[in-house]
Amino acid sequence: MPPIVFATRNANKVKEANAALDGAFEVIGLDAIGCKEELPETSPTIEGNALEKARYVHQHFQVDCFSEDTGLEVEALDGAPGVYSARYAGPENDAEANMNLLLRNLDDKDNRNARFRTVIALIIGGREFTFEGIAYGQITLQKEGAGGFGYDPIFMPRGYNRTFAQMSVGEKNAISHRGQAVAQLKAFLLERAY
Ligand code: IMP
Repeated sequence: MPPIVFATRNANKVKEANAALDGAFEVIGLDAIGCKEELPETSPTIEGNALEKARYVHQHFQVDCFSEDTGLEVEALDGAPGVYSARYAGPENDAEANMNLLLRNLDDKDNRNARFRTVIALIIGGREFTFEGIAYGQITLQKEGAGGFGYDPIFMPRGYNRTFAQMSVGEKNAISHRGQAVAQLKAFLLERAY
C-alpha cells in the first residue's frame, strides 16, 4: 500500500493520524510530496472545503489523499461561527480573540448548545468518500483549562463537567469530532484493504 497523503502542513495532525491508524496505513503530509502552495478553501460549507482541498491535491499530485475541515456550530447563533471558525474574530486565527467574541455574542443567550463538526474527504482510486464526526456539548460561561487548542477552553462535551481543555489528549480524542471522523476513515480503509 503506498502512503496516503493528508492534505495538511500541520506535523501534529499527521502524527495524530498515524497514531490513530495504528500503523495499518502510512500517512504523510503535504511537505513530503513537495506541495508548497496554500490549498483553496473557498466553499461556504465544511464538507465543501474538505472536498476542495482533497480534490486540489488529487488533481495536482495524482495521489490518494484525504483532508479534513472542522467548525464549531452554535445553535443560538444559527450555526455560526461554523465554516468561519478559524477567522471568527479576524484573519489572524487568534484563538483568544475568537473565544472572547463568541462569549460576548452569547452574553444574552440562555441556549448555549453547540457542536463541533469535522468532515474528512478521502479520494482513493479516483473515487470520493466523506466521513463526518460530531461532538455535542455546551459553550461554558468562561474559559476553563489550559490544554488543547482553539475553542477547547469554552467547549464542554455532553455528559462531562470538564471542557476539552481540561482533558488529556487521549480522553479528548476518544470522544471528539475529529476522533470519530478518523475512526470512520480507519474502518473504511481497513475494510477496503482486506
Ligand atoms: P481547522 O479546520 O482544523 O482549521 O479548524 C477550524 C477552526 O476550528 C480553528 O479555529 C480551530 O482552532 C478550531 N478547531 C478545530 N478543531 C478544534 C478542536 O478540536 N477544538 C477546538 N477548536 C478546534
